[in-house]
Amino acid sequence: MRLCRFATDRLGIVRGDHVLDVTRALENLPQWRYPLPRFDPLIANLSALRPKIEALADKAEKIELTKVELLSPIANPGKVVAAPVNYLRHLQEGRADPALHHQNPVSEIQRAGVFLKATSSVVGPSEGVKVRYPERRNDHEVELAAVIGKVADRVASDRALSYVAGYCIGLDMTVRGPEERSLRKSLDSFTVLGPWLVTADEFPDPTSVNLSIAVNGDMRQAANTRDLILSVAELVAYASSFYTLIPGDVLLTGTPEGVGPVHIGDVMHASIDHIGSMEVRVLPAEPVSCAG
Ligand code: MN
Repeated sequence: MRLCRFATDRLGIVRGDHVLDVTRALENLPQWRYPLPRFDPLIANLSALRPKIEALADKAEKIELTKVELLSPIANPGKVVAAPVNYLRHLQEGRADPALHHQNPVSEIQRAGVFLKATSSVVGPSEGVKVRYPERRNDHEVELAAVIGKVADRVASDRALSYVAGYCIGLDMTVRGPEERSLRKSLDSFTVLGPWLVTADEFPDPTSVNLSIAVNGDMRQAANTRDLILSVAELVAYASSFYTLIPGDVLLTGTPEGVGPVHIGDVMHASIDHIGSMEVRVLPAEPVSCAG
């Protein structure tokens, strides 16, 4: 199942080139009162709601995918956990290029661990990436994103994939500089998730998928998750050894070599096997006000 959010908070199922509006399924979610839960209620209840969602989709009117604005498929992630350097060749390029490391040590992931991005940085592809520091270098990082489906606390890596609800494409945008990584990667819109969530049953093997990103048609990063230093399962296990992962938590699994700058006006095109593709525009952080 391919689950998307579109337009103004509509829930959709993607089949072929169409979106089927299944927003009514959300009426079956438990009603929450203050204080609100920290997990994502839809992802937490996805298995239970799935028959209802599929039934609504069978009867729904078809909307062309090209005509909808796609939001982040995860509305309320409790955490965005990210792997800093999880491909060997990206580790090597990070160590070699002062414009990337800014005198910060670039360690392998077993030493560096994972870091957190602010959940307020999450957007969907239609919202675009908004550049607040156009005078600094702003880089794209394409990554496979895994979304946690059930509470995972100190899980073993051989069972870790059973805690994953599904996968989407993640862009871990970065402004380069000397500051802490989590600050430079947490600007509004610097975590793009999309174009939809592919449930784990339709994404059989995260250890061997191609991922890529082109900017204005030029291929920048093209790799395969078989070159991950820590696999998706090992990352889930590792992260869950430090903190409990909850439904809707997102794991950005790391970016391969080929990170590079984007500029306002650029168009990024990211693809991952078994998921699909998404187009994301690079925009100014504040709209240019019209004269008059
Ligand atoms: Mn990254």
